[in-house]
Amino acid sequence: MPASPEIAALVGDIDFDPEALHARYLAERDKRLRADAAEQYIEVKAEFSHYVDDPYVEPGFTREPVFDHVEFAIIGGGFGGLLMGARLREAGFKDLRVVESGGDFGGTWYWNRYPGAMCDVESYCYLPLLEELGYMPRHKYAFAPEILEHSRNIARHYRLYDKALMQTGVTEMRWDEAARHWIISTDRGDRFTADFVAMANGPLSRPKLPGIPGINKFKAHTFHTSRWDYAYTGGDSYGNLENLKDKRVGIIGTGATAIQCIPHLGAAAKQLYVFQRTPSSIDVRNNGETDAAWYASLEPGWQARRQANFNILVAGGEQEEDLVHDGWTDIYRKLTGAAVKEASRKLGRRLTGAERAEMLELADYVKMNQVRARVDQIVKNPATAAALKPWYRQFCKRPCFHDEYLATYNRPNVTLVDTDGHGVERLTDTAVVAGGRAYEVDCLIFATGFEVGTSYTRRAGYDIVGRGGVTLSEHWADGLRTLHGLTTHGFPNCFFLGFTQTAITISVPQALDEQARHVVHMVRATAERGCTVLEPTVEGEGAYVDEIHRLARLGSRFYAECTPGYYNGEGASGSRGGFFSDMYGEGPLKFFQKLEAWRADGALDGLALT
Ligand code: NDP
Repeated sequence: MPASPEIAALVGDIDFDPEALHARYLAERDKRLRADAAEQYIEVKAEFSHYVDDPYVEPGFTREPVFDHVEFAIIGGGFGGLLMGARLREAGFKDLRVVESGGDFGGTWYWNRYPGAMCDVESYCYLPLLEELGYMPRHKYAFAPEILEHSRNIARHYRLYDKALMQTGVTEMRWDEAARHWIISTDRGDRFTADFVAMANGPLSRPKLPGIPGINKFKAHTFHTSRWDYAYTGGDSYGNLENLKDKRVGIIGTGATAIQCIPHLGAAAKQLYVFQRTPSSIDVRNNGETDAAWYASLEPGWQARRQANFNILVAGGEQEEDLVHDGWTDIYRKLTGAAVKEASRKLGRRLTGAERAEMLELADYVKMNQVRARVDQIVKNPATAAALKPWYRQFCKRPCFHDEYLATYNRPNVTLVDTDGHGVERLTDTAVVAGGRAYEVDCLIFATGFEVGTSYTRRAGYDIVGRGGVTLSEHWADGLRTLHGLTTHGFPNCFFLGFTQTAITISVPQALDEQARHVVHMVRATAERGCTVLEPTVEGEGAYVDEIHRLARLGSRFYAECTPGYYNGEGASGSRGGFFSDMYGEGPLKFFQKLEAWRADGALDGLALT
């Protein structure tokens, strides 16, 4: 349907044909849809298990197994585990143990040390506990080594290294009904017990590989971006990959990870081939050093206020001031509820549902036209520029922000191998075949992302055995079942941090912090009532699961029309298995309000205490 002039006027000059753009988006999506959807990827196990070996520790670590008891075990030492530990310490909990498969705290920032790794969410919001630690981030957008160091500082500050078990993978967790505690077994021979357990495994922690024919016989050097092989490339997270100067390097993938490391690969390699299936949307980054005088002038409580301001704006809400004022807040202001409210004010009436959808779609086209125009401004070769343009709506894939990525394609040693949506065809012994042509490489890097939509226990790498010997994989066989995403029936005193039926925030640690505080509240409230065990009732869990399904956003036209990716279950019927499909559909603001109201009410509705 052509745009209605009244609605189009709200968006600005529409100097393009929206219907033609819509048709182009659908055609680009159709090219990429494949029947195997998420099944196209290979699980990193058996002959591929070396892809997840830890390159950051000395081999040969040994220690004596532990057989003791702790009050609270935290599985995972990333921001989820760190915030859980911090909030428990603040609440007076003394006996904590973090178990972490990596060699140190840091989680995603422990593993993802690829050159150029940084957080594209503003550091003053993203880095948790800045005021508690009295720390000033060096840049508006922090680089990975600083984030890793901040993680370690949090662990030191809250004494989370005490009793921590590093380089240790949980192999089983089992509820002992008679003793009313968890028995935790690990791959280091530990068998300790805990009154409470918090699972902080992370949502994107298990790397995946593309199921490309020949991958199991490939003989050139390979690794996944989340286990960067600096012994091979030289250099460090800041770049300077000097060992690549005589190497032909290939990289598969052009997602948020790849766009950060490609500039460094382009600067260092003799020849770089970037194998692209779908281009990312790359907007302005605009990083800069922190102004120390400004930072010193911030009033106590500033971080919570800034986080709230950012979170409200990127949840489509309104704020008088945009404190962060960056690419994230820009797209949310233009493309979500805030834009609709602004339009209603201009029109002097509420928009109908159809008008709202039409306006947001037009605004999206305008925004993505800007993104595409930026490619032409930066990339000199017209054919390369054309191939780098994303043809989908802004939130179909994770928006990216970078100031050097696109210019990398102006280097003579960098070749974009665009596969027109089809992906790499196969690997020979030492070459990558795409578009019928073989590209010989010395090294091939997989920037192919992480498992999403596979079962929770597969991603965790072990099962949890609850009351009566029922496993979590059995309890969740037909989908997640939780109360507020944090507890599940039959698994007493076990808490799930992350994105199991909770709500995501762009600045992920903020959501984790809300969850950690809520867990502390539940544990305290249980103790205050003279009880030691809590879990959701069948009814409480059922009512929440119904609410999640009722509010489910996915399956909507929006994701169905998107190009495949982990946001929409790789395009599988547009919805199931997508990253957001089991999250709280009304978004983080409403979710946090719901938790807050539940805490204030004091009835502990939906929980059973014994
Ligand atoms: P993604 O899943 O986003 O990207 C994987 C890439 O591999 C895609 O470009 C995909 O193409 C490509 N690919 C997969 N299979 C093939 C194939 N057979 N042939 C060619 N290409 C293929 O993973 P990332 O690691 O890039 O990012 C994961 C997430 O991590 C991000 O979405 C973000 O949430 C987070 N992140 C955050 C950062 C931050 O700054 N805060 C930085 C980096 C990551 P296609 O798109 O066609 O599927």
